[in-house]
Amino acid sequence: MHKYSIAIHGGAGTILKEDMTNELEEAYREALQESLNAGYAVLEEGGSAMNAVKAAVVMMEDNALFNAGKGAVFTKKGVNELDAAIMDGSTLNAGAIAGVRNIRNPIELAEEVMLHSGHVFLSGKGANDFAIKQGIKLEPDEYFYSQYRYDQWREIRDSDLYQLDHKSDKLVGLMKDKKFGTVGAVACDSDGNLAAATSTGGMTNKRYGRIGDSPMIGVGTYANNNTCAISCTGHGEIFIKAVAAYDVSCLMEYKNLTLQQACEEVVLKKLVALNGDGGLIGMDANGNAALVFNSAGMYRGLKNSEGENLIAIYGS
Ligand code: ASP
Repeated sequence: MHKYSIAIHGGAGTILKEDMTNELEEAYREALQESLNAGYAVLEEGGSAMNAVKAAVVMMEDNALFNAGKGAVFTKKGVNELDAAIMDGSTLNAGAIAGVRNIRNPIELAEEVMLHSGHVFLSGKGANDFAIKQGIKLEPDEYFYSQYRYDQWREIRDSDLYQLDHKSDKLVGLMKDKKFGTVGAVACDSDGNLAAATSTGGMTNKRYGRIGDSPMIGVGTYANNNTCAISCTGHGEIFIKAVAAYDVSCLMEYKNLTLQQACEEVVLKKLVALNGDGGLIGMDANGNAALVFNSAGMYRGLKNSEGENLIAIYGS
């Protein structure tokens, strides 16, 4: 049987051991393992890569530790606006949503867009109307509230600063802290099919309907059985300039780089040259994974049918 494998991330950024209590680190490790197990269980039962990445992302969307679904960051107006995308590498079918509100699991709405809207990318109120029509699960504003994210927002809401999701002391232009808390998954199933999924609340204090890289097909999310599945996390504006996910695929397709080489080229060279902090997870059609980041840490995990099971947070 074909090797099957899943990799996940829960955001990259200035994640340092000295900023973390043992309890918090344990909570993150547990949450990552639960998400990995949920996705892996789908693959183990012979399920598709699409269903595996969805299951893994739903677990993290339901956990307030991550900046996606429950626990998403607050916008300038003090609400939560959610972005997500999913892509099927076997068909190149994709679905994405941006700036939606009150959707419990944005990744499920993204898949619904792919399957039943006749479109690829829906945004704002229209996407919410579509969600209601399709019977997607909604939650009240309070569901998305977490004290931690609220405090992050309160600190900067009267300024022009915006903030990504994990702590640092650096001021970078208009960005207060370098913090990225998006979630994502990539998988290769026992038929050798690839899929990628990404979900996020974006940046604290974002405004004007700002959308990052996560829901953009080819930027924060991409899957193609001929090359790879990719889910990114980091400073969205820079990832957009780099067309990050598709660039990894192109390096494999046109330059015959391996997945690991292609991911390193994009994350450690191209994004670094553009000052783009963050990382990505990749999977190829042989079930090989790459977990590459240029920031201090990235919440990440990997599990495959050869018995590997990895959970990690910090850099080496
Ligand atoms: N890439 C996301 C964005 O810019 C943020 C993140 O990865 O945490 O919206």
